Amino acid sequence: DLGSSLRDTMDTLRGKSRLDEADVEEVVREIQRSLLSADVDVGLVMELSDSIETRALEEEPPGGTTARDHVLKIVYEEMVGLIGESTELPLQEQTILLAGLQGSGKTTSAAKMAWWFSKKGLRPAVIQTDTFRPGAYDQAKQMTEDAEVQFYGDPDADDPVQIARDGLEATSDAEVHIVDTAGRHALEDDLIAEIEEIDSVVDPDRSLLVLDAAIGQGAKDQAQRFEESIGIDGVVITKLDGTAKGGGALTAVNETGSSIAFLGTGETVQDIERFEPNGFISRLLGMGDLKQLSERVERAMEETQEEDDWDPEDMMEGEFTLKDMRNQMRAMDRMGPLDQVMDMIPGLGGGIMDQLPDDAMDVTQDRMRSFDILMDSMTEAELEDPSVIGAERQRRIAHGSGVPAERLEELLEQHRMMKRTMEQFAGMGDGDMQRMMKK
Ligand code: GDP
Ligand code: MG
Repeated sequence: DLGSSLRDTMDTLRGKSRLDEADVEEVVREIQRSLLSADVDVGLVMELSDSIETRALEEEPPGGTTARDHVLKIVYEEMVGLIGESTELPLQEQTILLAGLQGSGKTTSAAKMAWWFSKKGLRPAVIQTDTFRPGAYDQAKQMTEDAEVQFYGDPDADDPVQIARDGLEATSDAEVHIVDTAGRHALEDDLIAEIEEIDSVVDPDRSLLVLDAAIGQGAKDQAQRFEESIGIDGVVITKLDGTAKGGGALTAVNETGSSIAFLGTGETVQDIERFEPNGFISRLLGMGDLKQLSERVERAMEETQEEDDWDPEDMMEGEFTLKDMRNQMRAMDRMGPLDQVMDMIPGLGGGIMDQLPDDAMDVTQDRMRSFDILMDSMTEAELEDPSVIGAERQRRIAHGSGVPAERLEELLEQHRMMKRTMEQFAGMGDGDMQRMMKK
């Protein structure tokens, strides 16, 4: 199962807060493997993986999220961008034409869709125009009986266009007309000519292309031909209950500029689902619920953006408050240790930072968390000027937040040290500081 090797790769990145180029390349390679094995078109895979790679290298994971989750969010967004939402199907009167090769699942899908619309409270009818395949009439009749929906067909007629015309008239009291058509084993001109004629008689509101999930690289040709001849508004992918993942649908959607309407997941009339990008993409990649994950990262990003109101330059001007310290800790979490950041500022390397004890700027994740909790227990005035925090308040803050009193002492000591350092920086004012901290 290639999907699981993507999962394995992603799992090895679990603890990392940022990804280097080699990590990103590895992830992108695994995504390519998964998508290719799911029959996604090679060109599309390359396009997708290029944009995923670029974004994964350029965009910073927000504080509080792992690089792994961030990359998965990017993957999900790029895939949704390509696949889109489900084809719109307003619950109203409409005519739907089904196109596709023989065996793709048109007749089955026609009955399934009729069943689906009937469950939505509409009166559907299926019109069977396939005069090509022996048994097509009986099959459609049986399936529409199972679905308990209206059916029109004529086992003795040999003109599909005439059947379509008669069928629409005979079922004129139905609200949703689903017109099933014949297929061929391969794309042939007479198949295209026939469906074009039916299309002009039926004048459908929607033409859906029915594709077997195992279609693979052949999806491109089919999608192009049907798009040129009748115009495709949506795709139905069938046989998703099998092993095929239906990556060919991406090709079809891309070629026709349409979207996916339904998924077929079995042989009975109830085995139909409206398309929903999350489940489909997660399955395609062999990953869990990517949407949920993506939303989690999204929330973390919003929180980070709120903090970004903080301007490091303010810190240089006024007093260095506990709030500044907190913001700086969060910035560090995003950028890496402050001393390394400082080293990158021209003219500062080997300067002030070297005069500080080694661990002065080393705020570990664990300490940061308790610092955060402690600061949550402080008043606004205390955050602005921690020197007002007397011994009694110290006890109560520590007690109230469930953090050892030594940690609070550490926090206050750390603040004093950073404040001194910042005062030495003050007046540097060439914008370098700001650029480095805002990143
Ligand atoms: P058509 O030639 O395009 O009309 O295709 P059919 O509707 O006759 O389907 C061809 C075969 O695929 C039939 O044996 C169906 O039972 C089967 N089939 C269609 N849709 C599905 C599906 O979603 N799952 C499974 N397992 N079989 C399906
Ligand atoms: Mg059929």
